[in-house]
Amino acid sequence: MRNTADQNLMRRMNNKTVIDLLRKEAPLSRANLAALTGLNRSTVSSIIDELINEGWVKETTYQSDKVGRPGLLLEINPGGGFAVGIEIGVDFILAICVDFSAKIIWHERIETDPGEGRTAILEKAFQLTTAAMEAGKTNDSRPLPLGIGIAIPGLVDVHEGVLKNAPNLHWDDVPLRLIWTQQFNIPVYVENEANAAALGELHYGAARGIDNLIYIAAGYGLGSGIIIDGNLLRGNKGYAAEVGHMTCDPDGALCNCGKRGCYETLIGPRAVIDRVKKIITEEGGDSTFLHTKDGQVIFGYDAVVDAARHDDQVALSALENVGKNLGVVVSNLVNVFNPKMVILGGALNYAKDYIQPVVKEVVKANALELCQQDLEITNSQLDPYSSVMGTISMILEKNFPIWNG
Ligand SMILES: [Zn+2]
Repeated sequence: MRNTADQNLMRRMNNKTVIDLLRKEAPLSRANLAALTGLNRSTVSSIIDELINEGWVKETTYQSDKVGRPGLLLEINPGGGFAVGIEIGVDFILAICVDFSAKIIWHERIETDPGEGRTAILEKAFQLTTAAMEAGKTNDSRPLPLGIGIAIPGLVDVHEGVLKNAPNLHWDDVPLRLIWTQQFNIPVYVENEANAAALGELHYGAARGIDNLIYIAAGYGLGSGIIIDGNLLRGNKGYAAEVGHMTCDPDGALCNCGKRGCYETLIGPRAVIDRVKKIITEEGGDSTFLHTKDGQVIFGYDAVVDAARHDDQVALSALENVGKNLGVVVSNLVNVFNPKMVILGGALNYAKDYIQPVVKEVVKANALELCQQDLEITNSQLDPYSSVMGTISMILEKNFPIWNG
């Protein structure tokens, strides 16, 4: 006979299976759940009774099933509680609050500048977290905070919740979990922003139901999250998937990580601007829309994309160049990881009409035929919420107390 600990474990696993199914496929009847889980009807009924009692699941409307018997349908109870996600970017902070069905019920984004310094930026992130918590408490849901997730562009020790190094913020060894837990006293999870975005797309976005995917976002830096067989690739110490710092040219431009010739220096909005500057100042390119003054650019990335929309050849050429570099990175990743889906996100996506076709072309020409079979290269579906929704998934899908506690 199984002991009580085993029975508890079994019960929690069954609860999780049922909640997972309701998140993905609700509304479902008890009979649907029994068929999908392979559990018998009475076990499913007792699980559902418990989940309804605890406020995680609710009954919806009557529905006649195929044999003509009315059965109550079940779904996740949005009012079960709330969770907060924060993304501390290089030049912005984004905060959301979601209900228990993972629907965003509040959001706010503010601009920041890395020059403000760590303390000032963390203080702002703190204030946004407080505002998100208030939004959750005053929503229709019961005032039950389930956790806070933090996404940040850097190398993260996820076990300790410590940001080890963020090259573009110039921060080292920031114990984010400790700081947030002391203030808010609920579970806090910290994750690299691109890893988080991959999780967000996996659970709520473009990659639902897809177990092998690569998320790549070119913004201030070039981040990536790799999911293999449904799990985030972490590597030995948890710092895997730093695609942006793969070396393209050991003698190339200095990267913010301190090394030379990283792909990050060749891909992203800054690379687009650098390329335009080079075409105009060194290669004799002539643009109607983009100008330099005393050898310095006086336009931003958005202006380059807008110029491309007006058929400006300099802008088109710069975007094509950066698209080719991204295509090389994607080709290499496709050969190494054989993903089903590659999701392109981040600021570079503003130019997706020009970048994505080039990436697809380069991958088609360069990745191994077998490795690119059934491959889909697509946009982020949650942008700009991929990372914060990924941190939400760490709370609602992975660490929720009813299956860990
Ligand atoms: Zn680098």
